[in-house]
Amino acid sequence: MTVTPAASVDSPPSRLVGPDAVLAGLDDEQRAAVLAPRGPVCILAGAGTGKTRAITHRIAHGVLTQATAPNHVLAVTFTARAAGEMRGRLRALGVAGVQARTFHAAALRQLRYFAPRVFDGRAMPELLETKARVVGQAAAREHVKLDRTGVRDLTSEIEWAKSAMVEPDGYPVAAGEASRETPLPVDQVAAVYAGYEQLKRRMGVIDFEDLLRATIWAIEDHRDVGDQIRAQYRHFVVDEYQDVNPLQQRLLEAWCGGRDDLTVVGDASQTIYSFTGANARYLIDFPRRHHGAVVIRLERDYRSTPQVVSLANEVIAAGQGVEASVRLQLVGQRPPGPKPRVSHYPDEPAEASAVATRCKELLRSGVSAAEIAVLFRTNAQSETYEQALADAGVPYVVRGGERFFERPEVREAMMLLRGAARAAESDAADGLPGSMVDAVTGALSGLDWRPDKPPAGGAARERWEALAALLRLAEEQVAADPFSAEAAVGLPRFVDELAARAAAQHVPTVEGVTLGSLHAAKGLEWDAVFLVGLAEGTLPISFAKTPAQLEEERRLLYVGVTRAREHVWLSWAAARSPGGRGSRRPCRFLPAGSLPAGVPGTAVAPAPKPAGRSASRSLPTCRICGVALFDPTHRKLRRCGSCPANYDEELFERLRTWRGALAKEQKLPPYVVFTDATLTAVAELQPSSEAQLAEIAGVGPRKLTLYGEALLALVAGADPASLVEPTELA
Ligand code: ATP
Ligand code: MG
Repeated sequence: MTVTPAASVDSPPSRLVGPDAVLAGLDDEQRAAVLAPRGPVCILAGAGTGKTRAITHRIAHGVLTQATAPNHVLAVTFTARAAGEMRGRLRALGVAGVQARTFHAAALRQLRYFAPRVFDGRAMPELLETKARVVGQAAAREHVKLDRTGVRDLTSEIEWAKSAMVEPDGYPVAAGEASRETPLPVDQVAAVYAGYEQLKRRMGVIDFEDLLRATIWAIEDHRDVGDQIRAQYRHFVVDEYQDVNPLQQRLLEAWCGGRDDLTVVGDASQTIYSFTGANARYLIDFPRRHHGAVVIRLERDYRSTPQVVSLANEVIAAGQGVEASVRLQLVGQRPPGPKPRVSHYPDEPAEASAVATRCKELLRSGVSAAEIAVLFRTNAQSETYEQALADAGVPYVVRGGERFFERPEVREAMMLLRGAARAAESDAADGLPGSMVDAVTGALSGLDWRPDKPPAGGAARERWEALAALLRLAEEQVAADPFSAEAAVGLPRFVDELAARAAAQHVPTVEGVTLGSLHAAKGLEWDAVFLVGLAEGTLPISFAKTPAQLEEERRLLYVGVTRAREHVWLSWAAARSPGGRGSRRPCRFLPAGSLPAGVPGTAVAPAPKPAGRSASRSLPTCRICGVALFDPTHRKLRRCGSCPANYDEELFERLRTWRGALAKEQKLPPYVVFTDATLTAVAELQPSSEAQLAEIAGVGPRKLTLYGEALLALVAGADPASLVEPTELA
């Protein structure tokens, strides 16, 4: 199998344990990460630089020198596989008893234990493992008609909202700010979301996000629970911290309870899950939020050849946005290897067949199939490669997705096509000829598929693409064999051809070339990697439109390139089908210098910059990520709800103390002086002049005259007691 970042290579054999053995085999920066004193540590590490290695060795070193008790450590990450790998590496270093879990697993364990205390003697409510059924019920109650994929996309949207800690009421505004592609109008999503929450309460169950929320609540609102958890866990480690979402971050803060023995590690350039709510700002802002944090950068890439590393650096060098602000230049440590190859083909089947041929050559040269991967942007691209590899007799496994002919919509379509083939034959017998392509389109319309109506994204888009792939196969058959154009002849042939393909591709394999999406490839490594379909419209995917979405597409290519130890082949096809119009442009993120001779790069107009000061009056934008702001509170803060606050908490407290005293003195409710949002904005923006102060929403001309001086003095460090009657401060 292809689960490669191996504990065996990464860690000394388990006999060789002891603090010194743990330090051996680390480079200087990795060692600095291991030896950094207790307190906040932030490891900003590029792909393949040994992140997991550094943190597991840090934990091991603490335990083996007896500075830390293993049962006081809580190490968290995001997938069960990654957590298991961490435990494996720790075991290999001779360390037992450390909790290495996913956020969910850790929360589940804690909440189960404390349930009788926090749920009035009752057990923990049952966990709702899959939301879709309840979301479907909630949609039906709102008279929203959705098919299975529609429900799936709506479920993802509700998960996003819950991970961002957005309640149903706040959803429409938050979705607008985050430029969400919503499966339904935002008000409908909010209504279904509210209905879903209600149904869940009635059923007495909680979902995975509720589990995290309930754990936060148990810790924060039950003193004894909080005390006990904090006594138990004293040292915290988070791997892949760029993937943390606001809800998980809150839980982490609850665990820490104001303490700062926290080590985080991540690579902002590998943030590819923002669409699910992950926010790399927590990683990027870590040093700012944790005074005195030790910041360590790992730049030596132990995974890939300098040739691969250099391409990865070029891809990410042009990156923009907050994730790019902490970009690292990787330095390859392995011996030189072959240059990455960039090729283009007239059509997709030609591209796939070239890839299959290359795979065969690699296998012949001794590379094992498990050390080869073909990675693409969407699972629907899988079919062409499944077929090409099957034709070439190369074994393969599909990772993180279903095989094309096992997808439910493809099975349904094949059933409809069989019916259509029978109908075409009897129509022809009645003297009613028809076109084969029309007949296929007609059959697909039975599944609500329209050629000109691709949905924006998500599962609905994947379903659409899979069905579009079937129509394409029909068109290819007609192009290759004009007799097929007639439905009565072509359709039965087409149905047989599909059945033959399905059979050919239905060979179960244990070990084979990996076919998988770029998303599913995260954290893995192979000797040879094919990155296919690198054309505009596929990567970046056509529905990525905002600058932030486009940057996420760039990072996907970066993740893809950095999976390879030695060989990378990048390719695209000018047209989908043979004989089609070959007008596709190469992916804009491919460095111009890497393209084959005579192929110009794809120049794209630079993304519009977030609105500047003058424009910000008409359309306020988040000063961190640049999205338009609709919510009045966010406008005041000049920061959207998804970007984490980076205000000075000490200043905020002084501002509040001052406001409280002033309100008391003037017998006003405090919010009449200034709202919390305005004070947060002052603490975040820290204005140093009246002009800057006046820029903050909520500080009008009257308040500027009344309180401007005091506010500026507080920002400059004044004690509230020096500004108001001391008696009012009591
Ligand atoms: P990714 O960003 O892809 O998750 P990572 O930073 O977590 O990567 P690891 O998986 O920890 O990287 O390490 C990548 C590879 O480099 C592993 O095979 C690991 O054994 C090796 N490696 C890490 N550090 C060293 C070192 N100092 N000397 C030799 N090999 C190393
Ligand atoms: Mg890793």
